[in-house]
Amino acid sequence: MGKILFISNSQDKIKQYTEIFSKRPYEFMTSYDENHIPELVDAEMPDVIIFDNSVPNIKSLIKTLKSITSSAGFILLTGTDKLEPEITKHINAFLTDDMPDSLILSTVAVSLKTKQSLEQMSATNKNLADSLYRLNVLYNTSSQFAGTLDKEKLVNYMIEGMDKSLSFDLTCTLAFYTENQPVLLLNSLYEISDELLSAIKFRTVLNYKSLFENKNTPFEIDIDTLKVIKAVKYPANRLTFTLFQYDNMFAPISLGDNFFGCIEIFKETPFSSDDATCFQTIAQQVSLPLKSATLYQEIKETNLKLEKLERLKSEFISIVSHELRTPLTAIKNSLDILSGGKCGDLNDSGEKFLSMAQRNVQRLSGIINDLLDLSKIEAGKMDYHFTNIDIHSVVDYVKSSLSVMAKEKGLNLIAEETRNLPEIYADSQRLEQVLTNLVSNAIKFTPEGKTITIRSHLADASQLRAPDCFKDDLNKLTGKYIVICVEDQGIGIAEKDLLRAFDKFAQIENSLSRKVGGSGLGLPIAKQLLQAHNGAIWCDSELNKGSKFYFAVPVSMAEEISEKNLILN
Ligand code: ADP
Repeated sequence: MGKILFISNSQDKIKQYTEIFSKRPYEFMTSYDENHIPELVDAEMPDVIIFDNSVPNIKSLIKTLKSITSSAGFILLTGTDKLEPEITKHINAFLTDDMPDSLILSTVAVSLKTKQSLEQMSATNKNLADSLYRLNVLYNTSSQFAGTLDKEKLVNYMIEGMDKSLSFDLTCTLAFYTENQPVLLLNSLYEISDELLSAIKFRTVLNYKSLFENKNTPFEIDIDTLKVIKAVKYPANRLTFTLFQYDNMFAPISLGDNFFGCIEIFKETPFSSDDATCFQTIAQQVSLPLKSATLYQEIKETNLKLEKLERLKSEFISIVSHELRTPLTAIKNSLDILSGGKCGDLNDSGEKFLSMAQRNVQRLSGIINDLLDLSKIEAGKMDYHFTNIDIHSVVDYVKSSLSVMAKEKGLNLIAEETRNLPEIYADSQRLEQVLTNLVSNAIKFTPEGKTITIRSHLADASQLRAPDCFKDDLNKLTGKYIVICVEDQGIGIAEKDLLRAFDKFAQIENSLSRKVGGSGLGLPIAKQLLQAHNGAIWCDSELNKGSKFYFAVPVSMAEEISEKNLILN
């Protein structure tokens, strides 16, 4: 069945065509009134229009009708093959006066079939375009989800995605950004009256409760204090209670046991099953990033608490150390006076106790100084005095100041230095502190009769080698470094404990370290001091064989440049 319009000003032809088509399953119309035709086409929308070529002003008539119905098949009945391209470009088929009826009928049938196929194709294309558009919206929305850990932004992206793909009249989103403060977000095409708002609030809370049936709802909602945020597109118009007759969809926003809210959406025209899939997909998609955002928020809060605790701890250590230092100085001075003989001579056991007290005061003041240094470094308040220095002077100073201690323990302390090493840009006092710590550890952990060697050499970062646990520290280094190594033949450190030796307050479990004592701060302080020098510290050790502690300090820029010049010349 199809609608056919035959346009001609020849009564004979109208008669001939009416006879041919009236017996067939077509709705057949004729017209000869040039002025009335556009109106007729607009009202009837024929599937095929047959134009008699002799109709006056046929060119403009075809053009006008094409603009009214672009999909109808246009057939021209003509006695000549001399036709203007302006006409033929709109024509799908031709008929001639001498054609038999059967050929006329089959030409029209083909035209009708083509028109129906075109219509089907355009409907399929439209569906395809709709699906593509939705896929695009879903893709963009999920990309937006992936780009943020802000809960408010995530919920807004979800609503924007729904607006683009479903074009709703109203969405009511109950969002729990924080547990005790639910927010009702209303995104509406038109203004919402106060009465409608009360009804929506009530409905949303009922929807929320219905999700958990008899079980307890995860969060309480007080309808009187429920915060409402409205976004209205066209405030000049107003939504009324008829909204509740609109089509609607509802979805929870949750992932496993985690509940983030729920959303209800209203639209005046019915939602399709594709709409429902799209709606559910977006509501589900937002849940995972909301869960990540919740975890991120928790981690951030925990970090803040930890940072605060760390600050308090540092402040506490700093205050206590300062407070201990004053009485300790007084004790030290008193002991010095006693040992100086100003209060008379002491007998042998008096001398013994006095020197024990002096040793312990020294140890205590070492621990307090370490604590103060660490709290200063951690608070970023450590003072550094960087200058171009010669590493030999650092090694010489430490060697001579600790040689008595080594000798007392029956150890051989030697320095094997490469002479004429380039200068480094460093704080010499801090490097002395690092080296003193390494050498005194070596003295502490090496049994009598053995040797401790201090070595220094120039190396490129790419030549430095360390156990795997220090690889990250070494990978950060580039360029030339002066490397100092303190090698001992002591108790050594097991590979599993190497990294831990640099942790604050760490003391590797062995009988000697417990016996000799210490603050467990020397190595972590050394590590921080070397970081301030853009250098690194690491160690290589074998249990019961000995240890090699290394630290690397960059060669100063000035030295590097003059070295390069030397090579070039
Ligand atoms: P401490 O004041 O306890 O020596 P450190 O931070 O300097 O603190 O050293 C931490 C721990 O590393 C020591 O207690 C010890 O167990 C281990 N250690 C450091 N140097 C050596 C070494 N040369 N030989 C063996 N163990 C060492």
